[in-house]
Amino acid sequence: MTSSSTPNTLPKAPREFGFWLNGQSVDAGTRDLNTRISPGHDVAVTRIPRCTAEDVDAAVASAKAAFDDRRWSGLSGADRAAVLLKTAELIRARMEEIVYWEVVESGKPISQVRGEVGGCIGMFEYASGLARSLHGDSFNNLGDGMFGIVTREPVGVVGLITPWNFPFLILCERVPYILASGCTIVAKPSEFTSSSTLILAEILSEAGLPDGVMNVVTGPGSTVGQALTEHQHVDMLSFTGSTNVGRSVVNAAGKTNFKKLGLELGGKNPQVVFADADLDDAADGVVFGICFNTGQCCVSGSRLIVERSVADKLTALIKEKMAKVRVGDPLDEATQVGAITTDAQKQTILSYIEKGQAEGADLVCGQGALDLGMGSYIGPVVFGNVSADMSIFRDEIFGPVLTISTFDTLEEAIALANDTDYGLAASVWSKNIDTALQATRQIKAGRFWVNTTLSGGPELPLGGFKQSGWGREAGIYGVEEYTQIKSVHVEIGKRNHWVE
Ligand code: NAD
Repeated sequence: MTSSSTPNTLPKAPREFGFWLNGQSVDAGTRDLNTRISPGHDVAVTRIPRCTAEDVDAAVASAKAAFDDRRWSGLSGADRAAVLLKTAELIRARMEEIVYWEVVESGKPISQVRGEVGGCIGMFEYASGLARSLHGDSFNNLGDGMFGIVTREPVGVVGLITPWNFPFLILCERVPYILASGCTIVAKPSEFTSSSTLILAEILSEAGLPDGVMNVVTGPGSTVGQALTEHQHVDMLSFTGSTNVGRSVVNAAGKTNFKKLGLELGGKNPQVVFADADLDDAADGVVFGICFNTGQCCVSGSRLIVERSVADKLTALIKEKMAKVRVGDPLDEATQVGAITTDAQKQTILSYIEKGQAEGADLVCGQGALDLGMGSYIGPVVFGNVSADMSIFRDEIFGPVLTISTFDTLEEAIALANDTDYGLAASVWSKNIDTALQATRQIKAGRFWVNTTLSGGPELPLGGFKQSGWGREAGIYGVEEYTQIKSVHVEIGKRNHWVE
């Protein structure tokens, strides 16, 4: 593992943002401000208002008025598509600004964030086509007296709660699809990483999105997020975050208006490597899968499950590659692994590195916390000889900690891969098509990769099996998720009277 550090250009003073209400930025005024300290540099970078419950009410009222008067859902798909396409163009124009604020708030490596924002442009472009092609169904087989039509209608006001690990990407895996469906939005970004969501709201407005269709409330989850979750006039809530908070979101929805829920929660994702795999490719994929985003990734490949006959060889290849991973300053273009985004997350990761040793796993490589003279960094850690009863095998660590376990048969591999409460993602590495397909069919996961990992695009849906969540985002599936279905029965000709 090598460390890199180059001079940064950090903000001289923190940038102050307002929250976004009815097409306008609203200054903090008398509200408290949350100062965000860059996790990569220990420097104050942004100041964001802590909204109140009244602000949440105002944002929901704005989104409700915009939905009820059909200023967005009443437009043609072509008109909605034009706004989404213009948004893509404006994101491209402001890309470096979005990238910069995202990097300093999150500690993610700058080259990675640039790639993510590029992907987000594709989401808006793709969703613009979906706004035009969304359609229902018809039934012309109900006899001469009846015609059936099935329409898709937008659900209404959508509350959108997002986490800190991919602030812009997760937002853009949802917003364009929600807007394509005709819904209106109240977004609540993570209190640690709100700036890119506020910049997107400004861009959407400039692209011609009518006022009130996109609103952003900022502040802590326990107050602002909770108020949104419990709100009677929020028709659907899309929540991405931890399984624990997901559970409280389900309870809140049940206690109030039974709002429709979309949940994307945690993962403990297997990387299953068979002896016939290209081991060099697999090693690279496994290292990428756990180091990407410092392992703070719901789809991180955190459990390597490898056929015993090649386990030593693959472990040696992984160790060799890990030594070359560049950990360092998020603003350095060469950095591959940046900072740990929150102090709480850093403590969690370090506690699991201790637990792994206490549980008797072999420390293959990695030293844990790194002192780079600034910020908060943890180098990747690999544990070998990990059994399924260890907490490092079972719990989502959400950091650069890889476990290695072995199997002898396909059945054992599948059983180990499925031995988790989660079902978000999985990868299988094999050059045998039968093996790869059998594993793909039998491992329970919403996203699957064969001989690769962590790839994706706007066409393919995201979401989890088991305790990783409900529903799907992105692709046509992501637009349909934000619609509800109405069946319309049309009588043809004279009614057959019930009362003689
Ligand atoms: P978190 O659950 O603590 O917070 C997520 C969001 O929920 C934040 O905006 C937070 O302010 C808000 N929140 C917190 N308490 C709330 C409450 N009581 N009511 C309503 N909202 C509340 O998660 P995090 O620490 O930001 O992110 C890490 C977790 O997110 C990990 O478990 C990870 O697996 C998960 N995650 C899942 C996906 C996915 O697509 N499945 C993607 C990214 C992250």
